[in-house]
Amino acid sequence: MKYIFVTGGVVSSLGKGLTAAALGTLLENRGLKVTLQKFDPYLNVDPGTMSPFQHGEVYVLDDGAETDLDLGHYERFTHTKLTRFNNLTSGQVYQTVLNNEREGKYLGKTVQVIPHVTDEIQTRIHQIAEQSKAEVVITEIGGTTGDIEGLPFLEAIREFALEVGFSNAIFIHVTFVPFIKAAGELKTKPTQQSVAKLREIGITPQILVCRCEQPLTKELRQKISLFCNVPFEGVVEEKDVDHTIYEVPLMLQRERMDDLVCRLLRLDTPAANMSHWQEIIRKLIAPQHRVRIGVVGKYIELQDAYKSVYEAISHGGIANDCGVQIEKLDAEEIEKFGAEKVLKGVNGVLVPGGFGERGIGGKILAAQYAREKQLPYLGLCLGMQVATIEFARHVLKLEKAHSTEFDTTTPHPVICLLDEQRKVTKKGGTMRLGAQPCQLTVGSRAAQLYGAFVVNERHRHRYEFNNAYRQRFEQAGFVFSGTSPDGKLVEVIELPEHPFFIASQFHPEFQSKPHQPHPLFKGFIAAVHQHLHRKPM
Ligand code: GLN
Repeated sequence: MKYIFVTGGVVSSLGKGLTAAALGTLLENRGLKVTLQKFDPYLNVDPGTMSPFQHGEVYVLDDGAETDLDLGHYERFTHTKLTRFNNLTSGQVYQTVLNNEREGKYLGKTVQVIPHVTDEIQTRIHQIAEQSKAEVVITEIGGTTGDIEGLPFLEAIREFALEVGFSNAIFIHVTFVPFIKAAGELKTKPTQQSVAKLREIGITPQILVCRCEQPLTKELRQKISLFCNVPFEGVVEEKDVDHTIYEVPLMLQRERMDDLVCRLLRLDTPAANMSHWQEIIRKLIAPQHRVRIGVVGKYIELQDAYKSVYEAISHGGIANDCGVQIEKLDAEEIEKFGAEKVLKGVNGVLVPGGFGERGIGGKILAAQYAREKQLPYLGLCLGMQVATIEFARHVLKLEKAHSTEFDTTTPHPVICLLDEQRKVTKKGGTMRLGAQPCQLTVGSRAAQLYGAFVVNERHRHRYEFNNAYRQRFEQAGFVFSGTSPDGKLVEVIELPEHPFFIASQFHPEFQSKPHQPHPLFKGFIAAVHQHLHRKPM
């Protein structure tokens, strides 16, 4: 078993997760079985209770774990299926240690950060190694070197590497080499200081991934190598990508980073064949067709709040050799200026998941506009719920129909809480979560797109379609094309008379990959493209 630890220095948001994921792509393409793991030094047990302003998207796994969005990169860049053991927070570590203490597992001892907390962290690395049966475990440590919170994790990986031996564990440090305009040059000092900080802790990285806006010259590489005590070939340039994040594996391959990793870890594998990956990039950079998709949300100013949704849309584009320009549209703007004005010029509308009342009116207007103007519509979770509310209000004429999440006294609660959820009082990890089977109706568009009648899709919600209204909807032409196997929970709805109007209670975006675009996104972009050509703008 081989271990790669990825740390980050100087500033946050350097794309450590992407770098780890891209290395995963390369190692997989060298024939290795890889798994990836993220350590997050915050005290929340998981990010499920954090707002998108704090944390970006909460990524959901098959087993229902609510995890860091980097796990989304890991799954998208590789073929691995991750579980709740692949994301460890300080909160989880302390919870376990304190429970152990109460149970008397450390009886007689003083419980301390070293060794009790650090041992617990190491246990999780071993656990992942055993469970995944991977040959290589890539572990990313969240945060930035120098953070107080991250210290127990760094100490744990230092001890771990010593124990398994340096031909079995390496350290990669992702750092920043800023371009200082006034001086007209790249500066290496922050990197030197960040590496010095790591060495103080006892970690000497073998590879430095230097994030930079300008190419690193040979002289700069030499300087970094000398002052950071890293061999010259271990200084890797990772420039800002020009077009797409999926270029990162190719960039690292050009820098021969995967060769070096394999050499350091004594892994004898052939070079990675990345031709299929190059074709993906080609389709992203120079597609044959182009469309514009409006994503109507309330966190559109945040880069990361709808990460998997944006990625899945681009995968739908890859599947159709179609470039997708994503227009990030604010639901509250639609409330202010009307759907016609804000959605003008988009060729398809997507309403993603969400919580809370802000912007709901705008999302309902967007669904109405798409339905009435025959514009392709894809609704995800809340996007299904608003499509349902809209249909109830404007087609079934159930005035004031709503979800009880937003209006507890609505006369027509078409979306409501089921009994199991009514009893829930705690917030953390208590939604309907994770992959569950969904049965698709024969002859439905959803079944046609999936090419299957039973699918497994991931959930993260509390509210459901209210079956008391099912018949009324059906009589008006609303099709329930996917339900739980017992038929009780509505999972997919569609309007057959429409060019493309499909919405799901689950989150298909969590299972889309550039090399395996999700059928609903593939179908959505195909429909948008066809619709556009049928009716020139
Ligand atoms: N707020 C809705 C619910 O809890 C939708 C959740 C979502 O879109 N993820 O059911």
